[in-house]
Amino acid sequence: MKYVIELKMQVDKNLKMTILHKLKLKPQELISFKILRESIDARNKEEVKYNYLLEINTKKKINYKGIKDWPNPEPLIISPWPFASRPVIVGLGPAGLFAGLLLARSGAKPLIIERGEEVSKRKIKVDEFFKNKILDSNSNVVFGEGGAGTFSDGKLQTNINSPYIKFILEEFVKHGANADILVSNYPHIGTDVLAYVIPNIRKEIEALGGEVKFNTTFLDYQEEKDAVLVKTSNGNFLTKHLILALGHSAKDTFLMLARHNIKMSPKNFAIGVRIEHLQAKINTSQYGKFARYLPPANYKLACHLKERSVFTFCMCPGGYVVASQNEANTIVTNGMSNNKREGINANSALLVEVNVTDYYKGNPLDGFNFIGEIEKKAFQMANNYAAPANLVKEFLDSEVATSPRSINPTYPHGLHFCQLEEVLPEFVIKSLKEAIPLLNKRLQGFSDPDAILTGVETRSSSPVRIERTNYQSSCPYIYPIGEGSGYAGGITTSALDGVKLVLELLKKN
Ligand SMILES: Cc1cc2nc3c(=O)[nH]c(=O)nc-3n(C[C@H](O)[C@H](O)[C@H](O)COP(=O)(O)OP(=O)(O)OC[C@H]3O[C@@H](n4cnc5c(N)ncnc54)[C@H](O)[C@@H]3O)c2cc1C
Repeated sequence: MKYVIELKMQVDKNLKMTILHKLKLKPQELISFKILRESIDARNKEEVKYNYLLEINTKKKINYKGIKDWPNPEPLIISPWPFASRPVIVGLGPAGLFAGLLLARSGAKPLIIERGEEVSKRKIKVDEFFKNKILDSNSNVVFGEGGAGTFSDGKLQTNINSPYIKFILEEFVKHGANADILVSNYPHIGTDVLAYVIPNIRKEIEALGGEVKFNTTFLDYQEEKDAVLVKTSNGNFLTKHLILALGHSAKDTFLMLARHNIKMSPKNFAIGVRIEHLQAKINTSQYGKFARYLPPANYKLACHLKERSVFTFCMCPGGYVVASQNEANTIVTNGMSNNKREGINANSALLVEVNVTDYYKGNPLDGFNFIGEIEKKAFQMANNYAAPANLVKEFLDSEVATSPRSINPTYPHGLHFCQLEEVLPEFVIKSLKEAIPLLNKRLQGFSDPDAILTGVETRSSSPVRIERTNYQSSCPYIYPIGEGSGYAGGITTSALDGVKLVLELLKKN
């Protein structure tokens, strides 16, 4: 007999034994069990528990109050591509990749234009930048196969509820990711695994007749009678469906779109620093004495100050702070981790809300100029890619640390200790100073005097939105999707935006 049941279990207990005990079954009466969902409940540090949703198969009927209905979502049906013209996608980040996968399965044979390189070559460029400070402005931590999602932490959780999220996670698994992402409350792949999963998805697109042109930049376009001519560094292509999955770092491409008067609007975003702690201390804060039974802990914190919110974002347990700029002589921080999250430090963005009124002077792209100035100033502090930084104690006391103490920074180009006031706007500094002690009340140790603040974190979300109605921009042949369009943020929501666009186009069948 098959059941889906809810079960809570202290994390140091054995799952099979707990099932037998709670369901009053003898070992021979339990045929099999499978985890459908798993989350950790650490609200009570004296009794940290797993919350499970399990599918169990028993030889006898059970009498248990945690039996649940668990309907299987409808499988995603992809109908044939209804148009004669081949779609062109710009950008092979999560949005372009998943739009490309669905289009390839629909028989559309999409052409994908990507300014960066395939993962294996891109990896060499990223290493070259981290080791020797030689930056390739087209192939780096944000540009290239897999987009900004490749050299990332690979967190896949989202607050959005959509039946297609299961599809996205299943595709990652089909192409090589560990199946635990299908059950975890906080699914995570890691950059080492993404490095082969993403090319595997791209290879399926190619096997179905799709084509990917790497080292090819979308430079301009021209509206024709009932199509658009896509002009790239590697030839021109006519299409009725130009899907822009640009991400939010391609300022040059946004400038080109603005020249064509594509309707865009400025939006709120957030900027700040990366904060680094010792992962072991975060584990203890979150899980108490149960930490040794559990994977590296994460956290998500926020506080709402009088004028604006301060929050943590993209927390990377056991991760590394990375240099994620695409323009020379700028500094941009972000975080990544490997699948095992084996690094000694935890890092997270610590961000302050930026409202349109903080920067808008009348041009929808003003947000790019606002963050661009900060990124340049950050570089100029040391002029050698060392990132401006301070330790929490000195930052709160308006002093400057001279060197790291108990925590070794992971940023690849070294740190330049300074007053962060010299780099970030006053409202950001003021908000961070007010927020850090408050956040420490939610996570003990957050304001560890030795924790490192490394700047500048400026690319957590897009400063601009490309207006769209039913996915169509103000040019009817152009469909903006993903993070760069301003409607998604993160790997899963960007991929989801790509999936939803294609399903919308296929409805025209
Ligand atoms: C270091 C790092 C870690 C991150 N960690 C996480 C995480 O753990 N979880 C999470 O959810 N999110 C994470 N993010 C954010 C996430 O990666 C992005 O939200 C996501 O990749 C956005 O997807 P996208 O497809 O919209 O755009 P992108 O991934 O930015 O892809 C856009 C692609 O378009 C290409 N492109 C741009 N302009 C042109 C042009 N003119 N011609 C040709 N090609 C062009 C770029 O080269 C790029 O490959 C991280 C980001 C970074 C940088």
